[in-house]
Amino acid sequence: MSSSGTRPRWPSSHAASHTAAIRGRSAGSAARTTGADEVRVMGLPSVDKRHWRKLNTPVTLLNGKAGEQVRLDAYADTGLTVAVELVNRLVLHPDTDKSVALAEILAVDPPSAAHLTDRDTPEFAALANELRLVLDSLRTADEDHAAVRLNKLLSAHPAHPHLALEDGRWRLHHHPAETALVPMWSAICAEALARFLANGHARRIGACEAPGCGLLFVDTTRNRIRRFCSTACQDRVKTAAARRRARD
Ligand SMILES: [Zn+2]
Repeated sequence: MSSSGTRPRWPSSHAASHTAAIRGRSAGSAARTTGADEVRVMGLPSVDKRHWRKLNTPVTLLNGKAGEQVRLDAYADTGLTVAVELVNRLVLHPDTDKSVALAEILAVDPPSAAHLTDRDTPEFAALANELRLVLDSLRTADEDHAAVRLNKLLSAHPAHPHLALEDGRWRLHHHPAETALVPMWSAICAEALARFLANGHARRIGACEAPGCGLLFVDTTRNRIRRFCSTACQDRVKTAAARRRARD
């Protein structure tokens, strides 16, 4: 899991599959054409570093150098990062416009973002509240409670592995083939967090130490030394400390 050599490969963003066709029939616009012969299938986030850099949380999961940072598998990266972002932006420091926040978070999977409507916001907010309880349990080293909560989520939104043909290659999806947006992301986030816990990474959920912040992050440093959600918070704390020293 931690070696790039054995890292499971995330399904690519290119998809031209019968699943897309099925989705196109049954769910209207579930598949979205993005190019001449390229069809994107909902629920297959791409590992796009540019997107993750726009978000506050763990770009490091995707671009860490081997030996310096812990690498999770790409599927877990996405579910985990989306879970953290949902909690940060819908619960802890709620964005003024939650639907904009959701669109930005789900931009990792353009077909999902394309399907997003304002009607989904309350359901995503409810999911974010549940995920917050899980992440709080992990952050406070209460793995037992986290596991109980995750089992509840997993039983309500079971992961459902299935293969879909994309560009002539079979790729593995972990969520039900035919499901609505929120249940699909519930399954993806729950499975990612369950893998995270089961792989012994639970203690890597941290909360920003900057006064008034408290946003959550995934600490991928080798020795778990991350303290802040962002360089902005880190700089703020450093500047305040420097001012204090100058005064004393
Ligand atoms: Zn912060």
